[in-house]
Amino acid sequence: MNKLSIRDLEMNGKRVFIRVDFNVPLEGGKIANDTRIRETLPTLRLAMDRGARLVLASHLGRPKGQVNLKYSLAPVAERLRGLLGKPVEFSSDCVGPEAETKSHALRYGGVLLLENVRFHPEEEANEAEFSRRLAGLCDQMFVCDAFGSAHRAHASVAGITKFVRQSAAGLLMEKEITYLGKALSNPERPFVAVLGGAKVSDKIEVVQNLMKLADAMLIGGAMAYTFLKSQGLPVGKSLVENDKLDLARKLLEEARQRDFRLLLPADHVLAESPNSGTTQTTDIAGTPDGWMGLDIGPKTIAQFQQEISKARTIIWNGPLGMFEKPAFAQGTLAIARAIAAATTAGATSIIGGGDSIAAAEQSGVAEQISHISTGGGASLEFLAGEKLPGVEALTDRPANSKEYR
Ligand code: ADP
Ligand code: MG
Repeated sequence: MNKLSIRDLEMNGKRVFIRVDFNVPLEGGKIANDTRIRETLPTLRLAMDRGARLVLASHLGRPKGQVNLKYSLAPVAERLRGLLGKPVEFSSDCVGPEAETKSHALRYGGVLLLENVRFHPEEEANEAEFSRRLAGLCDQMFVCDAFGSAHRAHASVAGITKFVRQSAAGLLMEKEITYLGKALSNPERPFVAVLGGAKVSDKIEVVQNLMKLADAMLIGGAMAYTFLKSQGLPVGKSLVENDKLDLARKLLEEARQRDFRLLLPADHVLAESPNSGTTQTTDIAGTPDGWMGLDIGPKTIAQFQQEISKARTIIWNGPLGMFEKPAFAQGTLAIARAIAAATTAGATSIIGGGDSIAAAEQSGVAEQISHISTGGGASLEFLAGEKLPGVEALTDRPANSKEYR
C-alpha cells in the first residue's frame, strides 16, 4: 500500500480524528446488528494502546442535513461502551463547543463519539469551513476506516484531510486497499473474474475494466441474458435489458477480437416464474418460450469450476442465479465452494457485493475467502477502475523513509 497506515502514526497523547462506519441497521431505536461496530474494534484498540485520544465520527442513515434523532449515534455510543468495556464520551453535535470541550478533556486512550455528521448539510457538500472545524477536534491526525464511504467526497472522509498534517488508513481500510489494489495492479495470474447479479447496467464499468485486467471472465446470473440475447440466442422470459443489447454485443465482439476468454452459460435451470414449483434444465440454445432462466446449469457449473480451479486470483461479484430461492441456489453455492477450494489451494480470492457476500455466507465457506470486501458501492467503483476520493485523499507514504513501513 502506498498510503499511510494507522500503524505508521505516532499517536501518543495526540487527539486523532477517526472516521468510522457505524452506519448500523436500527429497529425501533435499537441496534439490530452491531457487526460494523465490532469490525472497527481492532483499529480503535490499536489507537488506544498507542495512547491516542480518539475522536470518532460516522454517518448513520440519510438524515439529509437535518437533526433527526431517529438517526442519532447515541445508541452506538452505548454499545461501544459495552464492547470496549471502557467509558465512551458522546457529543450531541459533531462540531461546536461541546465537541471541542470534550475532545480536549480526553485522556490518553480515551474515546469520544461525535453525533451523526450528516446532521449538517455541509458534510455531504464537502464544505471547507465545516471540514476545518472537524479537523479542529484533532491534533493534525486523521484516520479513515470507513471504506464503504470512500467513494464519497464528503467532509469527514475527504475534506478534512486538507486541514490535518497526516491522513492514514485504518486497519479495515488498509485491508480493503491492499487486497483490491493488488488484485487490480499486480495480480497473480491466471486472474479470473466471476460476474453475475441482476443487471448489466449496474456493472458495465466493472465488466469493461476487468476485461482489461483479468485473464478470463465468467458471466452468469440475470446479466448473462443480455449478452446471450445479443448473440441471437433464445432466452425465453429471462431478464434482459433491451437497451443494453448493443453494448453487450460490442463487448463480446471486442473479447473475440482480443482473444479474451469470456465465458457465458452453456445451460441453465428454468421455471415459468420464480415461484412456480416446476423447473427444467436445458442448453441455452434449447430455451423454451415462456420460461425464464434462474440459475446456471450443471454443464456451466462444471466449466466455471474448471476455470476457477486454475486461477491464482479470483474476484467474484454477483450471484449466478436467484440464490434466495433454494431451487435456484445450486449454481451460486457451487461457485462459492469452488472459489473457497481454489483459495485453500493457494489462490487469492475477493468477494464484493451485498448479495454475493450473503451467498458466500449461506454456502458456509465465507471463512475460507481471502477477502470479503464490505464496501458495497465503494468496492464496485474500485473494481470499475475509478479513483475513490476517500483513498486518494490519504497521505502518500514517503519512499525510503525509516519512519514508515
Ligand atoms: P451484489 O449485491 O452481490 O452486487 P446484485 O445485487 O447485482 O449482486 O444481484 C443480486 C440479485 O440478482 C439477487 O437478488 C438475485 O436473485 C438476482 N439474480 C441473479 N440471477 C438471476 C436470474 N437469472 N434471474 C433473476 N434474478 C437473478
Ligand atoms: Mg445487491
